Amino acid sequence: MLDLHDYIESIPDFPEQGIVFRDITPLLADGDAYREATRQIVAYAKERQVNVIVGPESRGFLVGAPVANELGLGLIPARKPGKLPREVVSESYALEYGTASLEMHVDAIKPGDKVLITDDLLATGGTIEATIKLVEALGGEVVGLAFLIELSELHGRDRLAGYDILTLLEY
Ligand code: IMP
Repeated sequence: MLDLHDYIESIPDFPEQGIVFRDITPLLADGDAYREATRQIVAYAKERQVNVIVGPESRGFLVGAPVANELGLGLIPARKPGKLPREVVSESYALEYGTASLEMHVDAIKPGDKVLITDDLLATGGTIEATIKLVEALGGEVVGLAFLIELSELHGRDRLAGYDILTLLEY
């Protein structure tokens, strides 16, 4: 039985002293591990009766795209500012230093869509909270959140209380 933990590298002191960075690139680089992670999220998406996938730039795309494709669903990217060519909704969120924002096209979600949001990793939950706000501003219903990794010490799950969360690995 394949253990996805074996495909996550832990890098001490990256990007700065005292942080242990969880690197998902070995998981993505292994066809069987990537497929197994996708399979687990696909099963969750079916349970939650999702009809569209949303992923924040950029690793949310890597997690969401194979899930969407396997289910025959569309993928909506939530992008960094200035990348989308048509009218957008925008949501800012706090980073450790400064702020960031994400944008979606105003017609990306149809009212009543049942949305699964995917990303590589849940840390403080700020990225996903902003993505949820974008989806809800457009009338979508966020029926699930799926991550490869949850950093439980950072309590992102508390910030996302009320939403259903799947995490494949916990650190
Ligand atoms: P949050 O908004 O604090 O939940 O941070 C989540 C975002 O930061 C995700 O989109 C990740 O890509 C990135 N991130 C934070 N820590 C790590 C890590 O240890 N490994 C990989 N990505 C990370």
